[in-house]
Parts: sequence; structure tokens; C-alpha cells
Amino acid sequence: MNDHGRGKRVKTITECLETPVRDSADVLVVGGGIAGVAAALAARRQGRDVLILEKTALFGGLATNGLISWYEPLCDGEGTQLMKGLPEELLRLSVRYGPDTLPEIWRDPGIPVDRTKLAAQKQHPVGGRYATYFSPTMFQLAIDELLQKEGVRIRLCMSGVRPLMEGGNTCRGVVTESVTGREAYLARMVIDATGDAVILARAGVPCVEGENYFSFVAQEMGANAVSSVISRRKWHSIGANLYGAGHPEGYPRYAGTRNEEETAFLLDGRRCLLDSIRRRDRFRNDVTALPSQAQFRKTRRLRGGATLVESDCRACADRSVALICDFDRPGDWYELPYECLYHPDYPNLLAAGRMISSDGWAWDVTRVIPGCAASGEAAGIAAAMAVDEGQALNRLDIRSLQTRIRRQNVLIHRQEAG
Ligand SMILES: Cc1cc2nc3c(=O)[nH]c(=O)nc-3n(C[C@H](O)[C@H](O)[C@H](O)COP(=O)(O)OP(=O)(O)OC[C@H]3O[C@@H](n4cnc5c(N)ncnc54)[C@H](O)[C@@H]3O)c2cc1C
Repeated sequence: MNDHGRGKRVKTITECLETPVRDSADVLVVGGGIAGVAAALAARRQGRDVLILEKTALFGGLATNGLISWYEPLCDGEGTQLMKGLPEELLRLSVRYGPDTLPEIWRDPGIPVDRTKLAAQKQHPVGGRYATYFSPTMFQLAIDELLQKEGVRIRLCMSGVRPLMEGGNTCRGVVTESVTGREAYLARMVIDATGDAVILARAGVPCVEGENYFSFVAQEMGANAVSSVISRRKWHSIGANLYGAGHPEGYPRYAGTRNEEETAFLLDGRRCLLDSIRRRDRFRNDVTALPSQAQFRKTRRLRGGATLVESDCRACADRSVALICDFDRPGDWYELPYECLYHPDYPNLLAAGRMISSDGWAWDVTRVIPGCAASGEAAGIAAAMAVDEGQALNRLDIRSLQTRIRRQNVLIHRQEAG
């Protein structure tokens, strides 16, 4: 088995670089997936100057470039909505210009849920959970529009490559690479929303690596796929499901934190896809989209001041900044403690999305789209508050932070959901 560079001794070179400082912001968000978009909007809505960097040409990360296109539920599966705020706003945004599969009971937010129509199935046209398929491309256009309308400053096709650390643990900004070259962007607060904890790991913040089953999802359309617009984006899944069923024997369970692993995962996925379709009638089938991001679920995450774990399920957390429902286990929910978003030794570095401090099944619960929107929103508000008060993240008054978050129509405790 190829270890793809792990444990190998490498030669090093020393670079002496002079890097121009291009710009600065109150809050710098690195990564424009769902978490980064939510964090940027949330910080901006607190009145801060926000800059978001995205290394690809398009926003949405795995949800769009990765072709996921299924927004997991905002409700508990028993008729109660547990997630509001940006998780709900972004769900609605995902289907603003494209088709949806919202169940009838959740379609109109102004009409109370008719519990007599609740269905046992997660996906049901009338009584399913508050979740939907969406068009990734339409969602991308809608995100562009919203970010610009709200005054978030944007840099696309720009990678954050190195945090600028001062005095050991304070981050003064980020060095970037783009077609312009190498530049520095300064900031008072930095939110790492790269999905892979790229900035945190390079800053020396304690992180933990994940493991991934081999899986690859493309979107396809057959000649008969005309029953509804959404059916033209049928998933073509290769490899394992969420729980590992279908993982090829002997195939490594990559963390996805090495470029060699990323490359192998993508090429192997595309090869397997081709193998599965090469004998099809090419005039009756088309693969309409390939993922432009490796579909790793859990690559690397923060080891924060607190870590959310499965035994926190259905437990009240006094320092909660978000209520997150379990997408697979009806009735289950988690309250996310603020300390899952940062490491106490690093005063101005936050994590958002699939790289926050959660583990085991709780990591799965927090890494799906609504969970990423929720942690992104909390991180954005915390960053803005820290700038307003000139305080380190671990000095923020939790009650004041919770008040700010609640003002954005976010539920942070289960009892608030009724
Ligand atoms: C196979 C699979 C199936 C899934 N199924 C579902 C599902 O059905 N429903 C659901 O809700 N969730 C699902 N998920 C989970 C969900 O899609 C993701 O976990 C979630 O969208 C992650 O959001 P994020 O913003 O945290 O990270 P990402 O989506 O990974 O976004 C990170 C962004 O940061 C950018 N970036 C990375 N590094 C840099 C850098 N150095 N500089 C600048 N930008 C950078 C990336 O380009 C990307 O846009 C699935 C995931 C996988 C892999």
C-alpha cells in the first residue's frame, strides 16, 4: 500500500520572501464553503469589515463544488424545527432560484407544521423532514448575490497559505497565493473555514486528523430523466456510504490532509465512475457534473477548549452557541459549546464548519451542511464581538455572546425550540 508521502524524510529548501501587504479587514474568513459563507455574513451583520478568501472560482465548497446538493434537516424528525438563523436562511437561499424537494409541511415557514401529516420516512413529499435537494449551480449564483449585497469583500481564486503568527499565538493575518502572486492580508480575527484546518494546523494549533471511506459522487442524467428538473441531477455514487458499507477491501482510509491522498482519491473515484459507465449507451446517458473538490468527510479538525462527543447528545450545554439536530437519528440533538470553536491559547483564531472540535458521531452531526452553517454563524458573531471589545476569544462574556446570537433568530438551547 502506498503511504502517499507519510513518514518519508524529505529534503527542505529555505525561501527568503518579501511579501507585499495588500489589504486588511476586521475579520478574515479563509474558505468559502457553507461555513465560511455563514461566518462572513454573520460577522458582516454585526457591522464588521469582512473579507472572505476562496481558493476556487465558486462558493459553496463540498455542498456545491463537491456536488452534495442535499441539505440535511433543520428539524428533529418529530415535527419540531431545531435550527433557524443562517442554517435556515441558507437552506431557503439554496432553492431560491432552483428547484426544491421541500416537504409540504415545511414549505411555507408562516404556516405551523401539521403534525398529523408527519411521515416516518426522512424524505417524503408531504411529511418528510425539513430538508431539500438543491441545484448547486443555482445556489452558487445566489450566494454570490447575497455576499455582495451585504457588503462582504470577496477574493476568489485565492488560497490562504500561511498564517502570520506574532508572539507565538496571535495571528496577524494570512499570506495568500493567487494569479497576482504572493500577498499578505492582515486581520484582527481570522476564521479558518477551509474544511481541512489549513490555517489552524499551520499556526500550530492542536488538530486531529480524520479517516475517510472511499466514496465518489457525480451527477448524471439519462434520456428518461425528464420527470422533474431535480431528477436531472441524479447521484451516481461510487464506493462507500456514510457508515463505510461498500468501502473497497484494502483501500486506504485516507485523512485527506496530503495532496497525494487528495489526488489519488479523486483519480480513483473518476476511474471507478468510468468503469461503471463505459458500457452504457452514450447517446442516452450523460454525466452532467464531476466534483471539483475531493469528497472527504472528515480530514482534520481543531482540538479545541471543548470537544463535542456522542454522549453530549440531548444534554443541555450552558455555554451553547448553536443547537444542531442529528440528521440521521430522529429526536436527537446537540448543543454546541462555544469552546468547540477555538483553542484557548490562541486569542484570535476560530474554526467553523466540518473542522470544529467534535469527535466520533458528533463530528458527523456537526459536519453536515446545516451544522456547518450553524458553527459558521456562531464563529462570525464571536469574531465580530471580539473585535468590538478588543478582547481575546476566551475573554468574551458568554451571556453577551449568546444574546447576540439569539438576536439573529438562532436557537441555542433545545428548550427554546418548544
Ligand atoms: C460524500 C459526502 C456526502 C455528504 N452528504 C451530505 C448530505 O447529503 N447532506 C449534507 O448536509 N451534508 C453532506 N455532506 C457534508 C457536507 O457537504 C460538508 O461537510 C459541508 O458542506 C462542509 O462545509 P465546510 O464549509 O465546513 O467545508 P467545505 O465545504 O470543505 O468548504 C471549504 C472551502 O474552503 C476552500 N478552501 C480550502 N482551503 C483553502 C485555502 N487554503 N484558502 C482558501 N480557500 C480554501 C475550499 O475550496 C472550500 O470552498 C457530505 C459530505 C461528503 C464528503
